[in-house]
Amino acid sequence: MEKILDKKRLGDWVDALADYEVLAPAWEEDAWGYQPVNGPIRLDHPNTKQSPKRLAFPQREVFFTFEQIKGEAPRLTQTLPEAPRHAVFGVRPCDGRGVPRMDQVFNDYVEDVYYNTRRKNVAYVGLACNKPPNANCFCLSVGGSPVSTDGLDVQMTDLGDRYFVKAVTETGKALMTAAAGVFAEPSAADKKQLKDMHAAAVAYPQRAVNDPDGAPAKLKANFKSPLWDELARACIGCGICTFLCPTCHCFDINDEVQSKAPLKGQRVRTWDNCQFPDFTMHSSGHNPREGTGARLRQRVSHKFQYFHENFGMHQCTGCGRCITECPVGIDIIHVVNKVAANAA
Ligand code: SF4
Ligand code: SF4
Repeated sequence: MEKILDKKRLGDWVDALADYEVLAPAWEEDAWGYQPVNGPIRLDHPNTKQSPKRLAFPQREVFFTFEQIKGEAPRLTQTLPEAPRHAVFGVRPCDGRGVPRMDQVFNDYVEDVYYNTRRKNVAYVGLACNKPPNANCFCLSVGGSPVSTDGLDVQMTDLGDRYFVKAVTETGKALMTAAAGVFAEPSAADKKQLKDMHAAAVAYPQRAVNDPDGAPAKLKANFKSPLWDELARACIGCGICTFLCPTCHCFDINDEVQSKAPLKGQRVRTWDNCQFPDFTMHSSGHNPREGTGARLRQRVSHKFQYFHENFGMHQCTGCGRCITECPVGIDIIHVVNKVAANAA
């Protein structure tokens, strides 16, 4: 299904999605973030500071509560998420490509009921990039594109005073059908403009990982390289790079005790981070990734080697957030290129 939407009617489309909580990029204090739509919606953001991954994988969630009353059997009560239906507008193609990667991880050996319950209620309405919105975008070199539809339910393309809107999935078709009256049929001129704009977007210069196909073998060959320590020397272990990443998914699980008599509490999952020094700390006190070099190697190799070995795709979608937001300027493109070149 392909349609034209006059920009002045975007709000009418959103209003017609009464079964959804609609989110869209909004400027909040000093950054773009996804917020519930409560008024005019604008889709002129470069990209949001945080990816939309939290809609299916929130930073903190309760798995179950527990209670142990003396003389009685322990009581466990599972807390399945109450997952409202979300339609999230303005998702850039790199973040769309994060979605199938997260789906893969949370349905590999075990189907994660918490993730899946939320995920099936999220519809991703993408916005193609007419040109890469950030200086650190590198989607093309990791198999993506400024006009990729991977992971999206709908793709919108800004044609100036109107959007070209294309349903990618059945969910996307339903989102468009819910507001059938607001759309018009695309003309031949609209289709030509779309084709030209997509071609220009793909031709626009971007940064690049030099040899993404060769990266898994080259990183593997360089596992013991002193370059890792050298490249990671400035890392302060803040974890910004992974918290903002649309595909990072490591988590920790803790039991939070709320009272001791009777014993009551909850089991909670929170995001964790391979750049934290105690991420791999054993109870013996031994830490197999004691230094920043080993931790940087883990993050980069997971993105460009291990994930590829397991699932046949890179875990990085080239959004550039980890580069732009790293407070000490550690640049994943530079790291991959430098280490890979060392193995050549
Ligand atoms: S954002 Fe930079 S400094 Fe912070 S953990 Fe990541 S690489 Fe290290
Ligand atoms: S590793 Fe960095 S550039 Fe790649 S998807 Fe994650 S945040 Fe974006």
